[in-house]
Amino acid sequence: MTVPLPANPPPPRSVSTRINSIRSADVHAGTVSYACTNCGHWQRWFPSGPPPTCPVCVDVRNALPVGGFEFRSAKEVADRLTSSWSAAADGVTQFSCSPDFGLAGSGWVIETDDGLVGFEAAPFYDEAALAELRSRGGVVSLGSSHVHGYGALWQLQDELAPPVVFVGVDDLIWTKAFVVTWPTDEVFRVAPGLTLHRTGGHFAGHSVLHDERRGYLFCGDSLKVDLGPAGEAVGLSAHKAFHAQIPLSHGEIRFYRSVVERLDFSRVFTPFETAEVGTAEVLALLDHLLAGPPFAGPVPLADLRATHSDTSVNVPGGPSA
Ligand SMILES: [Zn+2]
Ligand SMILES: [Zn+2]
Repeated sequence: MTVPLPANPPPPRSVSTRINSIRSADVHAGTVSYACTNCGHWQRWFPSGPPPTCPVCVDVRNALPVGGFEFRSAKEVADRLTSSWSAAADGVTQFSCSPDFGLAGSGWVIETDDGLVGFEAAPFYDEAALAELRSRGGVVSLGSSHVHGYGALWQLQDELAPPVVFVGVDDLIWTKAFVVTWPTDEVFRVAPGLTLHRTGGHFAGHSVLHDERRGYLFCGDSLKVDLGPAGEAVGLSAHKAFHAQIPLSHGEIRFYRSVVERLDFSRVFTPFETAEVGTAEVLALLDHLLAGPPFAGPVPLADLRATHSDTSVNVPGGPSA
């Protein structure tokens, strides 16, 4: 069911000879990196002290921190967090931190014919994690679905200096902590078999990364997966704001659907977890959401699997309730 992509020039093999690798630390010389303890968002700010607010927490999608803002410098974070990594699926390594910090997201490192591609990032990478990535040849490209997946992407750019750092052009306003070398539009070929597609919706520049060969979709927050006790997917939702339960508009869902229906996948990777969820189930969710008033709550996966694109599913709390 894979449909040919619109003509879109792939990154030239000689890209590293055309584009100088950039260290955001050089671009933002004289600044200090601070992380918000509530959401983990990193900002460049003055050495004299942390920023007054966090733009991600102030945004309508997120909650303000109870008791006020608190920030930690990169050194303070390094003293508190330990990295870990493990194989998450064929060709994909998951990097994370303990104890949890911020949104406690994961960084996915994907094997391609061109080398490793990093998508999303863990809240921080300790020396052992950076050494592991260097021993595997570093990363040829680095990107993220949207700001909630950025994690310490700035740190990977500073330490590994990939020639390409890609983020949807409509989301550049969130990228001050690092330097985007390749702002992307609707479709961007990251590596052989690995293509970025803008879905919009949750954020205007929100984009998903499709691994065509393995049938994976690195779906960012275009999808929220509820997991059962054994780690199995039991519910799906899509939203503008998870915390505030603000739904996507019908127009946003229609555009999102027009992208997903061209992508063949059987496993998704959000910034937080991976689960066996396929194209038909996501399309069934979106058809269900289009069949009634805007709705941000979860829909049981069993119902979606039973009905697939049947929009008559009657879910308590859903649009037909
Ligand atoms: Zn924050
Ligand atoms: Zn998000």
